[in-house]
Amino acid sequence: MLLQLQTWPDIETYLKSSDAIIIPIGSTEQHGPIGLIGTDALCAEIIAKGVGEATGGLVAPTISVGMAQHHLGFPGSITLRPTTLIAVIRDTIGSLARHGFRRFYFINGHGGNIATVTAAFSEIYAESSLGTGGNQPGLRCKLRNWWEAPGVGKISKELFAGAEGSHATPSEVSLTWFGWPDAERHAKLDPPIAPNGNFTDAADYRRNFPDGRIGANSDLATREAGKRLYEASVADLASEYRSFSAAAA
Ligand SMILES: [Zn+2]
Repeated sequence: MLLQLQTWPDIETYLKSSDAIIIPIGSTEQHGPIGLIGTDALCAEIIAKGVGEATGGLVAPTISVGMAQHHLGFPGSITLRPTTLIAVIRDTIGSLARHGFRRFYFINGHGGNIATVTAAFSEIYAESSLGTGGNQPGLRCKLRNWWEAPGVGKISKELFAGAEGSHATPSEVSLTWFGWPDAERHAKLDPPIAPNGNFTDAADYRRNFPDGRIGANSDLATREAGKRLYEASVADLASEYRSFSAAAA
């Protein structure tokens, strides 16, 4: 159930049976020569839709731009500052809380968002702790990375092992190709498995990882793998969302 395809009376009715909402969050950043710039946002979105379908949970619009400053050496990447993303999350949750939502289940597609989203949750909790409302049940926020579902790790290891890497991974590319089959494309990647290592800023990233990948062979991606990863992630996250949305506040 997508928020954007409902009317306000639909949401008023939904709130009578649930105070929880699923919020996909990703990033808009280069994913190597064959991975889509929208990969992290698209992965979060497709998994969130699947969890919404499996559980009847309402799915908010995707927060598609996140923390991508170290990808700015590549055309097309867009970043927010950490303070901007914190403000976006606070205002999104603040708006929804005004209507009665109390539980916010974020499905994340980008490792670089974790620290900032967690800081945003701390800001929200601090507001309530510092307020004068007494010990009322407050807002509950949870962040889950789609790829950290236990079923997903097993499949990635089985299919891609040492070629999974950490950026433009064959797993995330597979998931986008499953969701958007027309996006599939192949290229000879050199070297097939990209280097691993560290970086400081955007220029250093591009120097160390000239085609954008880190440790990954994106060209191993397949739509079939994407389907398996999708099903595994949705199953695990749907079960977690059910407990999260039903737990006592
Ligand atoms: Zn990614």
